[in-house]
Amino acid sequence: MTSFPPGNGLSHDKIIADVLVIGSGPGGAVTASMCAEAGKFVVMLEEGDHLSLDSAPHFSREEILQKYRNAGVNIGFGSAKIAYVEGCCVGGGSEINRGLYHRISSDVLENWRRDYRVDALAPSELDPHFAACEEVAQVQYLPGPAPHLSTRLAEGARNLGWACLEVPRLYAYATDIATGSPGRKQSMSETFVPRFMRAGGVVMARTRATRISRVSGSWTVSALSWDGTNRRRLELTAKTVFVAAGAVQTPWLLRRSGVKTNVGNSLRFHPMLKAVALFRDEINIPGELEPVHQIKEFDPRFSMGCSMSKRPALALAMAAHPAMMEAVDRDWRRMAIYYVQSTGGVGKVRSLPGFRDPLVRVELHRLDLKELADGLARLAEVLFAAGAEAVYPSIPGYPVLRSVADIAKLPETISPKQANATALHLFSSCPMGEDKQKCATDSFGRVHGMDGLYIADASLLCGPTVVNPQGTVMAVAHRNVMHAINSGAI
Ligand SMILES: Cc1cc2nc3c(=O)[nH]c(=O)nc-3n(C[C@H](O)[C@H](O)[C@H](O)COP(=O)(O)OP(=O)(O)OC[C@H]3O[C@@H](n4cnc5c(N)ncnc54)[C@H](O)[C@@H]3O)c2cc1C
Repeated sequence: MTSFPPGNGLSHDKIIADVLVIGSGPGGAVTASMCAEAGKFVVMLEEGDHLSLDSAPHFSREEILQKYRNAGVNIGFGSAKIAYVEGCCVGGGSEINRGLYHRISSDVLENWRRDYRVDALAPSELDPHFAACEEVAQVQYLPGPAPHLSTRLAEGARNLGWACLEVPRLYAYATDIATGSPGRKQSMSETFVPRFMRAGGVVMARTRATRISRVSGSWTVSALSWDGTNRRRLELTAKTVFVAAGAVQTPWLLRRSGVKTNVGNSLRFHPMLKAVALFRDEINIPGELEPVHQIKEFDPRFSMGCSMSKRPALALAMAAHPAMMEAVDRDWRRMAIYYVQSTGGVGKVRSLPGFRDPLVRVELHRLDLKELADGLARLAEVLFAAGAEAVYPSIPGYPVLRSVADIAKLPETISPKQANATALHLFSSCPMGEDKQKCATDSFGRVHGMDGLYIADASLLCGPTVVNPQGTVMAVAHRNVMHAINSGAI
């Protein structure tokens, strides 16, 4: 699919627009769409390809190669290492995620408002923006029974009296799933991107912004574009630029463009540990819908849920227990992967001369590691309550747990060297707010002291969302761009 066909009247080397949006994930796609509908000529740059939602099966090797940055392998270094995952395609993370959807809690918003001095961020002020996004990208509960590996977690929680819920998804389910396709995930390529294009917006895929500079009262974005064989340098100019390249790439781009105040110093994430549970009966049934249950008993300290548990993912999650590889081949239908996810840990993003990728440094402090260890123990507890025969923590050197009594064998804390944590949710690298000691932008995403330069993605969120973040990324982007449009700033 090409979104920038030759012959549409635009010069390929120098492009002038009213608004440039860098990045087409949930933040960028919502922002670009609203600007185009307000009558602006908007160009949205996207480093990755423009592919349809079903260009590859969900969670397949092909999808990882097509749509994940660096085929899913990105490492944050520090006292502990974190493997983090980012989308790199039109639609960003929304194309590769499960679309599990929450509105953020009023407590978390209240903390952001107080600690970062964010104006107009009360739940009543953000709710209309959640609702506006939900109208375009539908949010639905499963129309039928949840998959076995999901209901099994709910059963365990019920047996322990813990709070557990079915989480709705950004999904338009088919009315009768039994007849075939389950429906369509409401990713950006299915929702806001087509809406943007219908309003006259131009998507330039396979185009990476490399620098932003201020020239004669406008912003110029230098970019590299490629068509598979040839590379071209481009210069795009606009009065207004929204940077929406995600919580790692946005600070990378801004810092290498000389915009450094409170940029890239406060990355936060939800560190996640996994464990494989082996059940007596088959719970991992091919063809079932994606799992949807989450345990909320311990929020905001940590939450638990189900991971995609196809056979290759199981083999990877079981890598810490090599003796089990044959068992994975044989018994994978009796196995499923579950996770615990906390809110601790901080990081910094830096751009190094001569390096193509950002340097991400992460720190998991003593208390963060203790919290994760506690979360892992609780995860094992609920899996046994769900009827697991054995639990295999995905941490090298960790014991196999065969009963609740074995949970006592788990270390009380996790050593930074052993922590095998991953992160799918990244934010807060350029927080918004009026506190200029901490915040990169004002309360509505405009970079402090810079006319016409905005941030419009997960970087703006002032801290961990505790829940899955995409809904909040979209609502905040919608709130901010409507503020810019309505105030006449763009
Ligand atoms: C595997 C996975 C599962 C997840 N599951 C869920 C879930 O179920 N529910 C949920 O709420 N959240 C989930 N998330 C998180 C959610 O996807 C993100 O919070 C969300 O996508 C962030 O949106 P964003 O706009 O900030 O950035 P992104 O979605 O990261 O989009 C940024 C885009 O900018 C592009 N870009 C970067 N640099 C440049 C550049 N220099 N020039 C041009 N383009 C550039 C990138 O290629 C990318 O497409 C998941 C994330 C992952 C990775």
